Amino acid sequence: MYKFGKQSKVRLAKVHHLLQELAYATIKKSEYDFGIPNTGGLRTAEMQKELYDKGYSKLDGYKKKSYHQTGLALDMVPYIEGKYTWQNKTAFLHIARTAFEVWNQLENHQGLFLHWGGFWRAKDLNDNNLLDLDDKLGWDLPHFELRNKAQANAMDIAELLANI
Ligand SMILES: [Zn+2]
Repeated sequence: MYKFGKQSKVRLAKVHHLLQELAYATIKKSEYDFGIPNTGGLRTAEMQKELYDKGYSKLDGYKKKSYHQTGLALDMVPYIEGKYTWQNKTAFLHIARTAFEVWNQLENHQGLFLHWGGFWRAKDLNDNNLLDLDDKLGWDLPHFELRNKAQANAMDIAELLANI
């Protein structure tokens, strides 16, 4: 069973408590270790702008704000062989699947819905209503956020993930 390191815990403490519950329960069940990298939790507008300037985000932090700036978003990144890796799709999928299983078991969602950056291109579902692992996943695999509407076109995300 994996556990969060000190830095991940510090970052987690600043996001919405449902994301905290989600993350702690997910790492207990996950077969892959993961953590919350430097910019994966709460961000200031300055941090957001820096990511935007580097091309890592489409939101500049001022005119277009990220959910990371209000504590409603969290990035969970696989931690493999001593470092964060953004390349392992299988690990990201496993983490997302586990996260949605956990989410569905939480008692009170407080009217919020879990969105996953891997489904930001969910319109690209194939004929069988499934995502193609190779090139059809959304671009932001580490990203989870809480919104007050369900994620478009992904009615039962957990089921969808189970079938990939
Ligand atoms: Zn994010």
